[in-house]
Amino acid sequence: MDGNETSSFEDPALGQLKGFDPAQPSCKQPLAISPLLEIVCERPRRSAIMVDFDGTISWIVDDPASARPVAGARESLLRLAEKFGMVAVVSGRSVSFLLDQLGFVDEITNLVIVGSHGAERWTRARGVEVIASDGEWAGVIAGIDARAREELGDAVVVENKVLGLTFHWRQGPAMERVAVDLAERLASEHGLMLQRGHMCVELRPGSSPDKGDAVSGLIRLRLRADLSESGAEPSREIESAVFVGDDIGDLAAFQALDRIAARTGLHPVKVAVGGPEVPPALLAAADMVVDAPTGVMELLGLFLDC
Ligand SMILES: [Mg+2]
Repeated sequence: MDGNETSSFEDPALGQLKGFDPAQPSCKQPLAISPLLEIVCERPRRSAIMVDFDGTISWIVDDPASARPVAGARESLLRLAEKFGMVAVVSGRSVSFLLDQLGFVDEITNLVIVGSHGAERWTRARGVEVIASDGEWAGVIAGIDARAREELGDAVVVENKVLGLTFHWRQGPAMERVAVDLAERLASEHGLMLQRGHMCVELRPGSSPDKGDAVSGLIRLRLRADLSESGAEPSREIESAVFVGDDIGDLAAFQALDRIAARTGLHPVKVAVGGPEVPPALLAAADMVVDAPTGVMELLGLFLDC
């Protein structure tokens, strides 16, 4: 964590504004329905609840392949989907990984799984759809993957995604510089976009979507008409949208909500998941901060009960 991140944590005004005590990030008052959340609760059928996966409804773990949703997360999402206009998991992970962990395939719900930062999407009605693809990327990914595994060794996990390659060094923190250096070289050589995350760095084609694109696409979905199997129900407009995330990639989702709000009057609720690794830019852009992942579960429970 650099100096800027530390200074944001220690900003007492910021902590007060967000209801987040920088000195005791895990000790908070119980969540309650505030004016910020009232609109979401008053018209749930016209509200969208969108959550990130890693660090939001799952604990951050050393081996990214072993990340699992916390107890109750899956059930909460299913119940929320019965009540709200849209419920979505929006992650940088592949849709196949998310479906394996969340197991929504056989459920009749209006849940949406968005993977690879928006490059692919799953709904029960339509199955997995590739929203964005890049033929050039498909051509270079194998070479980059092999080179990364050879240069980085076992201490860095190389995760191959549909439209991205992520280097995770949580199991070998001393490898951070090596991993970042290699990512920077590969980004430069292949014209790829580089994005830092929690003890990881991701390479994606510059043309690939981000979570802002994912959120914009979700808001444009004709909700139940598109998500239900029959397509018989009329479309509904989203009037309020909640996004919960913990990492810098989620900032694009927050910004997308703000852009849509300015254009359409949407009521955005941007929730940062607090903790020692939360990027200060995400914290600064958030309307409220909750703990990970217990506070997220508390927030989802609040939406279920309101
Ligand atoms: Mg995350």
